Amino acid sequence: MNLTKALKALETYYGYKQFRPMQAEIIEQIYHKRDVLVLMPTGGGKSICYQIPAITMEGTGIVVSPLIALMKDQVEALKINGVRATFLNSSQSLQTQRQIEEDITKGRYDLVYVSPEKLLSQDFSQSLKRFPISLFAIDEAHCISAWGHDFRPEYTQLQFLKKQFPQIPVIACTATADEITRRDIVKQLNLPDPTVFVSSFDRPNLRLEVRPGLNRIEQITRFIQERPKESGIIYCISRKETEKIAQRLITKGIRAAFYHAGIPNEERSKVQEDFIQDRTPIVCATIAFGMGIDKSNVRWVIHHNMPKNLEGFYQEIGRAGRDGTDAHTLLFYSYSDVETWKQIMNLNASPNLDIQLAKLSRMQQYATTLFCRRKVLLNYFSEDWRHNCNNCDVCSNPPQYFDGTIPAQKALSAIYRTKETINMNLLIDVLRGSQRKEIYQNEWHLIKTYGVGKEYTSFEWRDYIEQFLNQGYLSIAPDDGNKLRLTPAGKAVLFENKKSGINKSNHYPRTRICGKSSF
Ligand code: ADP
Ligand code: ZN
Repeated sequence: MNLTKALKALETYYGYKQFRPMQAEIIEQIYHKRDVLVLMPTGGGKSICYQIPAITMEGTGIVVSPLIALMKDQVEALKINGVRATFLNSSQSLQTQRQIEEDITKGRYDLVYVSPEKLLSQDFSQSLKRFPISLFAIDEAHCISAWGHDFRPEYTQLQFLKKQFPQIPVIACTATADEITRRDIVKQLNLPDPTVFVSSFDRPNLRLEVRPGLNRIEQITRFIQERPKESGIIYCISRKETEKIAQRLITKGIRAAFYHAGIPNEERSKVQEDFIQDRTPIVCATIAFGMGIDKSNVRWVIHHNMPKNLEGFYQEIGRAGRDGTDAHTLLFYSYSDVETWKQIMNLNASPNLDIQLAKLSRMQQYATTLFCRRKVLLNYFSEDWRHNCNNCDVCSNPPQYFDGTIPAQKALSAIYRTKETINMNLLIDVLRGSQRKEIYQNEWHLIKTYGVGKEYTSFEWRDYIEQFLNQGYLSIAPDDGNKLRLTPAGKAVLFENKKSGINKSNHYPRTRICGKSSF
């Protein structure tokens, strides 16, 4: 199979003349029956990467998607384009499901969307053996990993696909996965040697700004009044808050609506439709809003409260500026949001509480960083991004730096000499020459960097190490006791004497970041 056919299908079914970066390479891998993992930001064009192979190859492409609510619309859109697509989930009658299965067996579909529950049902796994299958696509693949931000335990059973159908290529797609999640997706799905495609997560047209969460309504009102004709979304932490804020804006003469999962379906669709059609320019919403909305002219996204992780945050701000022109993102930060999230997480007693707390603390680092915010964001998504973006509030208004190469080298060297086996608290103790038992037991008091950092308090060290983390010199392994690891950028500072600027601790008032649990 060659790409000419794929290109022809792109034009026939979608009306596009060219593939976006990586799409063609991904499709080629599937034609060669290789497994792939695709990481692209929301709106990057992941769907085409499995739809075109499914259309052009022999047999049916099975797409597993947890977003049952969107399935129908996705299939309708494909059908309008002339693609032979359908879906299967529990919302259909048994008879309809049977009929569809019969038709799949006869090769009447190129694409079938199924819910994980359906795919995993006894009945259906029998039927699968009869289907002429071209590929398996796993949409929202981060749901398979407990390290991800939206873990769905039933997803882990999907590993049976590769076991039962080793010869059928699997394409796993996600918009949000840090490095451990990526590795875990591959492991959980049993992909022996997948080709991994990571497109840049940078969206240079999005301006990033964080402000202290004081007098938010006044700030928001001013923000909107400065942009009278623009469309935007205000994300809030609770349903009640969406209603309250919309009301406050309306009383100030601003056209706004609210949206959350508690309002009737019909009304919700209307709010969404009015927003898409530019009849209501502003929606105050919970995170339930925005999934699957392809509106290109959203000019700004405000977070009235801090989200609980960078994955969610990135997805939400990603709804602004899809047309590629300038868009503004504004996050209000207040330490109380962090506390609220901690309480919610503790109340829910989630089995992966540690991971959630670690993710929360990375979100908080984004909000409180003194470095280019894009650096924090993209390093979180494991992009080795080192320069300043000039399109965030920190770049526009930089704090006071000093040459922090020596403290950076001290910290990095201590991590190196303890063979990357220590977490932040231990690192600080090693640097400050603590008499802690653990240090003697491991003979870390004998390493060259023991006690070389006494000139700074523990608080200052924590601040600096967080800055090193935000600059991408270090990473944290939440799956391994939050141990600190050196990155290529960190090694450049340690071994090649690359200069590292840091901001004076306490120079600017900062909220203390993270309790013990988050590191
Ligand atoms: P994702 O699943 O990554 O969020 P989609 O697959 O829904 O993104 O694609 C986002 C938008 O980009 C859609 O409107 C889609 O039609 C469009 N798109 C995808 N590939 C191309 C392409 N090669 N040329 C032009 N537009 C494209
Ligand atoms: Zn910047």
